[in-house]
Amino acid sequence: MTKRFDGALRLADFEALDATDSLAPQREKFVLPKDVIYLDGNSLGPMPSSVPERINQVLFDEWAQGLVRSWNSADWVGAPLRLGQKIAPLIGARDSEVAICDSTSINLFKTLTAAIALRPDRQTVVTEKDNFPSDLYIAQSAGARAQVDVEAIDNLSELDRHLSTGAVAAVVFSHVNYRTGARYDLGDITARVHDAGALMIWDLAHSAGVMPLHLSESGVDFAVGCGYKFLNGGPGAPSFVYVSEKWLGKSLQPLTGWFGHRDPFSFDPTYQPSETIQQWLCGTPAILSYAPLEESLDQLGAIDLQAIREKSIGLTEAFMALVEQRCPHLGLTLITPRDESERGSQVSYTHPDAYALIQALIDRGVIGDFRAPDVMRFGFSPLVVRYIDVWNAVEHLLQVYSDDAWRDPRYLNRSRVT
Ligand SMILES: *Cc1c(COP(=O)(O)O)cnc(C)c1O
Repeated sequence: MTKRFDGALRLADFEALDATDSLAPQREKFVLPKDVIYLDGNSLGPMPSSVPERINQVLFDEWAQGLVRSWNSADWVGAPLRLGQKIAPLIGARDSEVAICDSTSINLFKTLTAAIALRPDRQTVVTEKDNFPSDLYIAQSAGARAQVDVEAIDNLSELDRHLSTGAVAAVVFSHVNYRTGARYDLGDITARVHDAGALMIWDLAHSAGVMPLHLSESGVDFAVGCGYKFLNGGPGAPSFVYVSEKWLGKSLQPLTGWFGHRDPFSFDPTYQPSETIQQWLCGTPAILSYAPLEESLDQLGAIDLQAIREKSIGLTEAFMALVEQRCPHLGLTLITPRDESERGSQVSYTHPDAYALIQALIDRGVIGDFRAPDVMRFGFSPLVVRYIDVWNAVEHLLQVYSDDAWRDPRYLNRSRVT
């Protein structure tokens, strides 16, 4: 099991952990810049080394030579479901329950609208105030269109209060909070929601690819998640949508494009929904974006997710322990749960000068990120981050602070993307 970090921590301990790490060889399978410690794989995962060759093949063989024939000959048309089958084991779903298409925001709109329609006699959707803003915005518009109330709650006791009214149609939560890294008990909450007759939608943006998940077993109704975070599918990679077998053929998503028709190439003037997960597609898949994601999924599919989770716990634990021991004077406040079962694969602190500190760290090659208003966020991708990186990141943090590098006025200007 996971190593505990007690007593005075030493560099040699971290080197020893790397030396016995069964996932260490995975790092070689990614292209990473020299002299960078990458602690932002939860925002954009690193690039698998096999991606350029695969993209070239799609460009030069499949597009340039194959032209329109490649929809069949290279199975472009099958990409959304083929990749869905590769994600299914990563999230504990059946092959028939997952498709890759569109973005997480769009898939959330589809699933939430479908879920509300499955509970026509109920008037409320519950989400959380601290959810990723796009999820809140989508809930607001999906709720308004269906004329139901959207309640954004502060804590779980409010969930029980809402559920007890019998008015809740659906609950939309993020499994791992993007800001704090706090993780819900997916099985327990899903069961509570079901006991109240409501449907459960999980956003797995910060958990897919970095821990085992059990959607089918937990009876989760719908789920969505990102292709470009821990799934390493590349910037803006398509998202995944999971629909429980119990709702396939029995629910309707609202974006009724031709790819969701039961037979798109019949060119039927009337929409007839596919009864399979195919219905959750809308329009033509962005084939160039599927290629890197498929490379990454093939790579991830060969790795034991439990080993990934254990290293993730080890890295986050090591980072928190080291910051506690060595940085008590920095004024950092930990906002990530110390209990490993309650967190994802990131560690976050608040600090009044969080933005400047993160910028100064990035200038030193330690890439974490800032989330408004005052959060410093460090993500740990177990396939590329080493224990020695954890050690060195904390060294840099100490130095940025002690030599006042972060006070440089240029760190006060915020870029468009933070
Ligand atoms: C990253 C993230 C998204 C991103 O949605 P896009 O549509 O891909 O921009 C959505 N939800 C959560 C919880 C996220 O962390």
